Amino acid sequence: MVASRPIRTAKELLAQQLIEEEQLATIADVAKQYAVSITPAMHSRIVDLDDPVARQFVPSSAELVTTPEEREDPIGDDPFTPVPGITHRYPDRVLLKPVLVCPVYCRFCFRREVVGPGDSLLKEDQLKAALDYIRARPEIWEVIFTGGDPLIMSPGRLEPILRELDAIEHVKVIRFHTRVPVVDPDRVTPELVAALTLDTPVWVVVHTNHSQEIGQEARRALRLLAGSGIPLLSQTVLLKGVNDTPEALEDLFRTLIVNRVKPYYLHHGDLAVGTSHFRTTIEEGQELVRRLRGRVSGVCQPTYVLDIPGGHGKVPIGPRYLGEDGASVTDPWGVAHAYPPKAPQE
Ligand code: SF4
Repeated sequence: MVASRPIRTAKELLAQQLIEEEQLATIADVAKQYAVSITPAMHSRIVDLDDPVARQFVPSSAELVTTPEEREDPIGDDPFTPVPGITHRYPDRVLLKPVLVCPVYCRFCFRREVVGPGDSLLKEDQLKAALDYIRARPEIWEVIFTGGDPLIMSPGRLEPILRELDAIEHVKVIRFHTRVPVVDPDRVTPELVAALTLDTPVWVVVHTNHSQEIGQEARRALRLLAGSGIPLLSQTVLLKGVNDTPEALEDLFRTLIVNRVKPYYLHHGDLAVGTSHFRTTIEEGQELVRRLRGRVSGVCQPTYVLDIPGGHGKVPIGPRYLGEDGASVTDPWGVAHAYPPKAPQE
């Protein structure tokens, strides 16, 4: 039976038969280190314990294994944090993180050292300082809400923040990164849509990793957002044992497109602590992306990207199709073809 509220402790996981009795002590240790939450919507999508939804949300002892390359701040947010709640890495955009809580806690989370219950909401004076920071810098063209999951905030809490941003002349785009429409779709209401309806265009980037996550309620939530004129993009993390097959990626990206969500980024797994069991190699990722190109329409293709550890930005790492010699090109099925070099000018 699906739990009526989020599952948050090892004992609750056991009561819902998501872990075995002998795992209880170890999973309690994992939960002490990294927050646990499985919403009723995601619980209802778990068919068995080895499936792509369970693997993303049910904690495992593998999280206690740290490899030498893993880091507490894998994408290097800290050096680019001028005031609490702001990350300013690129000149024309900032991340705004008003909350560090989420409806679910993904076992591969790249911010797992900072998200979770606790001191996780920006205080009023910190929020004011963050908005002042944006207001004082005309080069900031885009504000990206992330966290935590910003859409865990009620429309009533979001509205005044959005109104302030809407009034800043140089902020031309507001973007939300969220898992809410898929993992907690009941939060997507006409009130939320009203709060997101501003003069400044609001884009929503939906984080989702497998089509099994996207149930009827999620489809309704996406329809409500898209039908209200909010452009929808998606972000997916490439995860071993979850979506690291051409079939799983094809199914996810087709599902997104038919629900009016344009696949935007496929992220290579970050070097977050205790997540090595989820990481593929870059070569495996490139091969998957190459095979995907031969299987699905161009609109279904995201860009395969890597956040360079240490905060050095995000770059595409997709497979190379042009030969090193510049005189050949490989097709989506792996066959190389000659391409004539440019004839010398007379
Ligand atoms: S929703 Fe995002 S921030 Fe929250 S736990 Fe998942 S990956 Fe981390």
